[in-house]
Amino acid sequence: MTDDCLFCKIVAGEIPATVVRETGTTLAFRDIAPKAPVHVLVIPKEHFGDVVTLAEADGKLMAEVMETAAVVAEHEGLTTDGFRLIFNTGPYGGQEVAHAHAHVLGGAPLGPMLA
Ligand code: IMP
Repeated sequence: MTDDCLFCKIVAGEIPATVVRETGTTLAFRDIAPKAPVHVLVIPKEHFGDVVTLAEADGKLMAEVMETAAVVAEHEGLTTDGFRLIFNTGPYGGQEVAHAHAHVLGGAPLGPMLA
C-alpha cells in the first residue's frame, strides 16, 4: 500500500469501485471514464509503479494479472470478436495513475491503435 496511490486506495476499499473480478493477488474494476463499451482495469493488489517494475520484480504476479485480464475478457464476452489489452507506461505512454494496470477494452470495433 502506497498512501497517495489512487489504485491502492481502491484495493483498500477507501475509494469505491465497480469490481468485476477479484483474486488473492489481483483486482479488476470498471474504468470510471470508459473509452469503449467494455473498459476494465486489472491491477496487482500490491503496489508497483508500472508494468516494467512489476514484471522485473515478480513474474508470477505479472502472469496472474494477465490471467485475470483473460478471464475478464472471457466473462465480458470479448473473446469472440476480440479486444485490446494495454499497459500505458510512463509519460510518453500516457500513464496517468502510477500503479501498474492493464486496460481491457472491447465491445465494439476499436480501430487502429494509433491514428
Ligand atoms: P492510465 O492513463 O493508463 O494511467 O489509465 C488510468 C485510468 O484510470 C484512466 O482510464 C482513468 O479513467 C481511470 N481512473 C481514474 N480514476 C479512477 C477511479 O477512481 N476508478 C476507476 N478508474 C479510474
